[in-house]
Amino acid sequence: FAAVGSTRGVDVYDPHIDPHRPERLSLMSELRAAIDTGGLELHYQPKLRLADGRIDAAEALIRWRHPTRGEIPPEDFIGAAEETGNIGRLTRWVLATAIAHVHALGERGHVLKISINLSARDLEDTELPDRVGQLLRMHGVPGSVIALEVTESAVIGEPAAALQVLRRLADMGIDIAIDDFGIGQSSFGYLRHLPVHELKIDKMFVQQLATDETDRTIVRSLVELGHGLGYEVTAEGVEDAAALDFLREIGCDHAQGFFVARAMDFGALTELCDAEGSRLT
Ligand code: C2E
Ligand code: MG
Ligand code: MG
Ligand code: MG
Repeated sequence: FAAVGSTRGVDVYDPHIDPHRPERLSLMSELRAAIDTGGLELHYQPKLRLADGRIDAAEALIRWRHPTRGEIPPEDFIGAAEETGNIGRLTRWVLATAIAHVHALGERGHVLKISINLSARDLEDTELPDRVGQLLRMHGVPGSVIALEVTESAVIGEPAAALQVLRRLADMGIDIAIDDFGIGQSSFGYLRHLPVHELKIDKMFVQQLATDETDRTIVRSLVELGHGLGYEVTAEGVEDAAALDFLREIGCDHAQGFFVARAMDFGALTELCDAEGSRLT
C-alpha cells in the first residue's frame, strides 16, 4: 500500500514526510549545531522602490552552508525545523542576527528597512513580541526599521494567538507583510482583522509578466486590492526589464527579484549602501 496523499487535505501517512525519520533528526541536530557554531548566515536581497529607483529595503534570507553537503536551500530545512520543534531556536538566531545588522548599518548612517521571515509556528509563540522588543532595545533600533513577513497560510482562520502576537508586534511600529500573497487559499477575511502593512505578490504571478496577459491582470488587481486597503505592495520574482516596467506603470511600490539584485552577504550589502550613500533614505 502506497500512500498517495489526499485531494481533501486529510493527512495520509507518508514515510517521506515523517518528521521523526532518522535522516531528518540528524539534519536537525546538525542544524542546531550550525546555529551554535556560526554555520548559518543571513543574506539580503535588496528591494527597489519603484517611484524613485532607490534601494530602501532588503529581505533577510537564511543560508546554511553544510560542511559536507554544501549549501542547503531554506526550503529543505525550514519545514523540518517547524515540524521537529526547532523553528523557535532558528527564528531567535535570525532575529538577533538581522537586528544586529540593522544596528550596524545605522552606525554607518544607512537606514534600510529589513524584512525578516517568520514561520507559521512562530506566531504561536506568545513570548515572541517581548523577545523582539528586547532585541530592538538592546541594539537601539526602532521597530519602524524592520518588517516581519508571514504567509497567508499562517494567518488564515485568524488563530487567536497569532492575532495577538501580530498586534503586539505592530504596536511596536513593526510592519507586517503578507508573503507569497495570492497562492494561499485566497480567503481575504483575515485582512479585516490583522494589522497588515504590506502585500508581497508571489513570484508565480510575476515571473511571466512579460508574456502572460492573465498574470498582468492578476498583478494589476492585486496591486489595486493592496492599495485600496492602504497597504504597500511588493512584487517578488522580478526577473526581467519588461516585468519591472509593467510594475512601475501600474504603480506597484517595490520590486524584488533577480533582475533587481540577488541576495548578497552582509558585507556586500554594506558596500552597496556605502556606494549608494546619500541615495539611501
Ligand atoms: P520567500 O520569503 O518568499 O523569499 C523569496 C525567495 O525567492 C528566496 O528564496 C529568494 O532567493 C527567491 N527569489 C528572489 N528573487 C527571485 C527571482 O527573481 N526568481 C526566483 N525564481 N526566485 C527569486 P530562498 O532564499 O531560497 O528562500 C526560500 C523561502 O525560504 C523563503 O521564501 C522563505 O519562505 C523561507 N526562508 C528564507 N529565509 C528564512 C528565514 O530566515 N526564516 C524563515 N522562517 N523562513 C525563511
Ligand atoms: Mg519572504
Ligand atoms: Mg515570498
Ligand atoms: Mg516563498
